[in-house]
Amino acid sequence: MLPLVYHPIYSALSLPEKHRYPINKYRLLYEAIIDSAHANKVSVHQPNKADINKVKALHAPEYVDALCNNQLPAAKMRRIGFPWSEALIERTLFSTGGTQLTVDLALEHGIAIHLSGGYHHAHHDFGSGFCLFNDLAFAAKHALSYTHIDKVMIIDCDVHHGDGTATLLADDPNIITFSVHCDKNFPARKPDSTIDLALPRETSTEDYLDAFTGLLPLALAQYQPDLVIYDAGVDIHQHDELGYFNVSTSGLYQRDHAVLSLCKERNIPVAAVIGGGYKAQHQELVDLHMQLIYAALSTNNE
Ligand SMILES: [Zn+2]
Repeated sequence: MLPLVYHPIYSALSLPEKHRYPINKYRLLYEAIIDSAHANKVSVHQPNKADINKVKALHAPEYVDALCNNQLPAAKMRRIGFPWSEALIERTLFSTGGTQLTVDLALEHGIAIHLSGGYHHAHHDFGSGFCLFNDLAFAAKHALSYTHIDKVMIIDCDVHHGDGTATLLADDPNIITFSVHCDKNFPARKPDSTIDLALPRETSTEDYLDAFTGLLPLALAQYQPDLVIYDAGVDIHQHDELGYFNVSTSGLYQRDHAVLSLCKERNIPVAAVIGGGYKAQHQELVDLHMQLIYAALSTNNE
């Protein structure tokens, strides 16, 4: 069985009309899996909210309190990109808890997938780009609380640079950050990850896979992580509205399969999150995010 982590609250947020954030994709993806021929190969796990005190151990407590109590200055809310609501905070805490649960399930089952997550633009004391709390950094710190986990690698393949993750974890030698992204895309300022692979706009499927799958085995061999947290963002896709790459749907599958199979060969558990993916028609994102599910099911059978 492939463990999936999902909560109905992920899509339960009303946003202004034409808002860029594809809020319905979580529910649509979940429904597509449950209605598919693969439904009997997955188990669904509902997360709890992240412990607010642990969130405050990662982010500045003043930021967490101000955000939760709707006391952030308007400019800081604009940088996040969502109108404030109780539901937004609840959703964010469940999503942060969801990536934590995905780590637990990955350690138990080898591969687990969170049907949310990848909020990599959340920094220590501010949020940006639709990201409030950094679930990737939060889950990586959580993983290190296991006595047998000494090193975690976050492989972030979202088209946008993992700037928040890089700054939050810059001083933690036990968490390796590896960002594969477009060199000319949000965020403008890209602080150093442990490993950064910046590719130009219009990168093709072949060039993307060559560059990434060439570097990946070297990165795993050099750092030998005990766990990988994988952000499988699909905004590298050729038809994404915020990405500038030319990667095909099959390219998404090949990328995800490369990560999962290489880690399986090396006995490294993988906690994957679906990450970014932007289209006005949210339904069109489902098939793109499904590639991660297909790649995981295939890897489990190999
Ligand atoms: Zn992105």
